[in-house]
Amino acid sequence: MLSRAQALISASALNHNLSVLAARAGARLLLPVKANAYGHGVDLVSGVAAAHPDVWGLAVATPQEAERLARWHPRTPTVLLTPPTPEEAGPLADLGVRLPVSTLAEAEALPPHARAHLKVDTGMNRLGARPEEAVRVGQRLAQRGLLEGAYTHFATADEQDLSFAQEQLRRFQSVLAGLPPVLAHCANGGAVLSFGALPGMGLARPGLAAYGFAPPHLRGVLPLRPVMTVRARINAVHTVYAGETVSYGGLYTAPHDLQVATIGMGYADGYPRNATGQAQVKVGGQRRPVLGRICMDQCMVDVTGLDVKVGDWADLWNAHDLTVSQVAEWGGTIEYEVLTGLGERVERVLVD
Ligand SMILES: *Cc1c(COP(=O)(O)O)cnc(C)c1O
Repeated sequence: MLSRAQALISASALNHNLSVLAARAGARLLLPVKANAYGHGVDLVSGVAAAHPDVWGLAVATPQEAERLARWHPRTPTVLLTPPTPEEAGPLADLGVRLPVSTLAEAEALPPHARAHLKVDTGMNRLGARPEEAVRVGQRLAQRGLLEGAYTHFATADEQDLSFAQEQLRRFQSVLAGLPPVLAHCANGGAVLSFGALPGMGLARPGLAAYGFAPPHLRGVLPLRPVMTVRARINAVHTVYAGETVSYGGLYTAPHDLQVATIGMGYADGYPRNATGQAQVKVGGQRRPVLGRICMDQCMVDVTGLDVKVGDWADLWNAHDLTVSQVAEWGGTIEYEVLTGLGERVERVLVD
């Protein structure tokens, strides 16, 4: 069947981003592929990443994500970043998944073949042991021969003011000083771009940057390339006469006769409904406005004067002149939310 909407995933852009990020971090990468690889398709992204020499492992947020990845890529470490239930820990360890550990009780309960990454809470206040406690937990893990890594997560590394991130880094380094040598990791994309190489860190965890995006004030630091293009087909082309309205609520009134294309992408596919009134798409080589409310499965676009027909593609976002950053801004949100919200009905296709 012809697909109605596609996300084209560029293997060369992803490989490029991984190389430049690893070089800047001075470390191998523990690539976050949680939430379906930020919407890009975890099967496609993990396949490319597992073959990249700068990638040490893949990081995920849920036990289900970890289980699937560990089965697909038994030779590439999978790291689970959030705590499993006690019932899940054993089967995940059996699959080789590296498990996060924050408490002495968790450290004691792990099976003897488990590999643990000590989670340190240095100020995010989301997960992990506070620094004082973390040293004791890490030492116990080391005693049991289970301690492979240690990590923390920055709350503000993508902001201009790095003072709190620097404080978090100091807290993390003081914990590391109380442990035997481990694979330490803390840098998200913002930190890799802002700080570059961090002493003592064997790994870095840039997520959004690996998919091609940097916070606005860090955009020039590395030549990142957006990995995803989303396109959908024109389902219908019709005339709307002057004075008629388009879509739900009749928000848009045609000022003169228009040619309107209906495109197979709506908010159920992740195209933000809040972008109504601002969104544009790329069609027939031009940027054209979306008219009226974005619907669940479709949206309508002014194609007056363009040579387009049913079956042609329109880009909802691309790697060049209509980025997901722009779409997120129209939708009043961030790239992360638009990318991870891309619906299941959009076919992911790996391209060069
Ligand atoms: C999602 C996540 C990352 C990646 O963050 P980016 O902002 O996408 O670079 C890194 N570490 C942890 C613990 C995460 O949850």
